[in-house]
Amino acid sequence: MMQYPEPIAKLIESFMKLPGIGQKTATRLAFFTIDMREEDVNAFAKALLSAKRDLHFCSICGNLTEDDPCEICRDKTRDRSMILVVEEPKDVMAMEKMREYHGLYHVLHGVLSPMEGTGPEDINIPSLIARLHDEEVKEVIIATNATTEGEATAIYLSRLIKPAGIKVTRLAHGLAVGSDIEYADEVTLLKAVEGRREL
Ligand SMILES: [Zn+2]
Repeated sequence: MMQYPEPIAKLIESFMKLPGIGQKTATRLAFFTIDMREEDVNAFAKALLSAKRDLHFCSICGNLTEDDPCEICRDKTRDRSMILVVEEPKDVMAMEKMREYHGLYHVLHGVLSPMEGTGPEDINIPSLIARLHDEEVKEVIIATNATTEGEATAIYLSRLIKPAGIKVTRLAHGLAVGSDIEYADEVTLLKAVEGRREL
């Protein structure tokens, strides 16, 4: 096999670290990068570094943010009696695109998965429970995905939270079973929030 010069080999190796990128695609991307204008490559490299260096997880809700606490947690106009629980920061973005939800969020950064050994302490469940003690929350809306793990996590949370006298609801799944919130369109999401049912 032909050996690429080291800078290209390194670039191919880097692209292959991205999900869904095999050797062939990585090689194509690497050669494409070499043909790009230097200022574009510069901007690309800077964007990569900045996304990693300047973004943090909000210490309250776990969302991705430049400032801690995040913009949503700091926003005094939001309804603090509601917390919508999602799996990943990108789910918050999907919900915010809908523009109809004005409560707060909590990002779990995963779901419970006995198969993979993920327990309540491994995801942001303790910090959610702490918030319920400190804040005046009346309703927790569980918007984990409609997968087996997502459902199991919803049931676990409802058993944990309901005894505290807080209403626990689950998004109505007009979303197909196994489907991800991040891929749902705004109308479907809005219907899912409006049609949420009590657990
Ligand atoms: Zn936050």
